[in-house]
Amino acid sequence: MKPEVEIYDTTLRDGSQGEGINFSVADKLRIAERLDAFGIHYIEGGWPGSNPKDIEFFADAKRKKYKNARLAAFGSTRRKGVAVEQDDQVRLLIEAETPVVTIYGKTWLLHVKEVLRASPDENLVMISDTVRFLKDHGKYVIYDAEHCFDGYKGDPAYALATYQAAEKAGADIVVLCDTNGGCLPVEIRDITQAARAKLAVKLGIHTHDDIGFGVANALAGLEGGATHVQGTINGFGERTGNCNLTSVIPTLALKLKRRCVPESSLAKLRELSQYVDEIANLRHNPRQPWVGTAAFSHKGGTHVNAVQKVSQSYEHINPALVGNTRRVLISDLAGRSNIVLKAEELGFKLTNDTPELKSILVKIKEREHEGYEYEAAEGSLALLIRKILKHQEPPFLVQAYHVSMRSEGKASICEATIKVRVGSEIAHTVAEGDGPINALDSALRAALVKFYPQLETVRLTDYKVRILDSATGTASKTRVLIESGDGKEEWGTVGASGNIIEASLQALADSMEYRLMER
Ligand SMILES: [Zn+2]
Repeated sequence: MKPEVEIYDTTLRDGSQGEGINFSVADKLRIAERLDAFGIHYIEGGWPGSNPKDIEFFADAKRKKYKNARLAAFGSTRRKGVAVEQDDQVRLLIEAETPVVTIYGKTWLLHVKEVLRASPDENLVMISDTVRFLKDHGKYVIYDAEHCFDGYKGDPAYALATYQAAEKAGADIVVLCDTNGGCLPVEIRDITQAARAKLAVKLGIHTHDDIGFGVANALAGLEGGATHVQGTINGFGERTGNCNLTSVIPTLALKLKRRCVPESSLAKLRELSQYVDEIANLRHNPRQPWVGTAAFSHKGGTHVNAVQKVSQSYEHINPALVGNTRRVLISDLAGRSNIVLKAEELGFKLTNDTPELKSILVKIKEREHEGYEYEAAEGSLALLIRKILKHQEPPFLVQAYHVSMRSEGKASICEATIKVRVGSEIAHTVAEGDGPINALDSALRAALVKFYPQLETVRLTDYKVRILDSATGTASKTRVLIESGDGKEEWGTVGASGNIIEASLQALADSMEYRLMER
């Protein structure tokens, strides 16, 4: 079905201009594949005229089959004083062999005169020459009107003349860009409306998030008559980033009820967002609207109590619609409802009337006072609940351990020995590692694998240390949070102690015990 609003993704071009974002050609190809599978309509792959990596991307991408998306190469209008067919940058756009070419041109007289140092008329010719040339080569041409809103505010008649130059030369879409990201939604709406009144061509909107209105401004553009939105996954982009498509897409579908990506894709939104962060080697932002882990998490006792009764009391949508889940946070703000819901989430049967509920709550508050934190350590929390509910012996006990470190020339070697008891048997192992925690992890694992071969697949995926009372320096309490995974599930565990190695061992031992836990 034809979309009412088209989505144009520029994660691989504008997004890769963000601080700390660096995609290899292989990364870009993987992301493009995902975007296509999700149902994004256009994928801007890069700017062949700006770097050889993007040329390589297009050379590889043209051998791929995209079933939903059309690939776009990005570039600019021809240079001043050079015939379009002689312009290398324009030639590279043709050589990228994409069905779509997007070029940007100047709208703002300040830029035309001071940056481009061209006459206003010459700029108009540069726009129409380039659009016509690309049309003559059979391309679907998207014209990005750079600084469109600032330009319009400076000289509305000239700004309109630039859009009309693109339209007359055959551009398929004219995209109004808030390049500096400083406009207000009402300005975006009004100027888009003014452009809509003068143009017949399809209009698009491209916004940046410099004052926190990237998404709001894109929606204002749609209200003004645009039907094509450009943005990036997770809002990657220069400075504070681009318009975030992981907010635009669900807002269109669920709030404005306008058809954009296939309905079945919406539930994969969070997965897509996480995937792109993973490829970019960034931690997924928990507070990201719609898709962050905190987007539907409840902490305050009264909120949790209400959500337990009627989920929509504190949730604007059902989190599953965008592939997210409700999370109940356990902290010293927790009430009974938090524990009941959390226990349910972790696979325990518990009600508000379970007699052990009170002891669980007391224990959690006591441990949090000692420096433990369970919000990101569901594994340790599950063990705590289980211990109180089931009164069972733990599957193993660490009876003793020793860690040492010596330095030899430039190398430092850490060694750990550990004594573990399982039932009536004792295992005593020794291991070396890159650091004390790594050595301890290896020694513990080696001891336990003899009894529990299923622990072979458990891997430590993240390790975080927090000093709890910085005023006392090294003598202060340390909290260690670790994340582990076995390829199927991921879980967090926590340890706290005045000694970092002790705190780490607690978290490591919890991680193994959680994997062995039967519910
Ligand atoms: Zn941009």
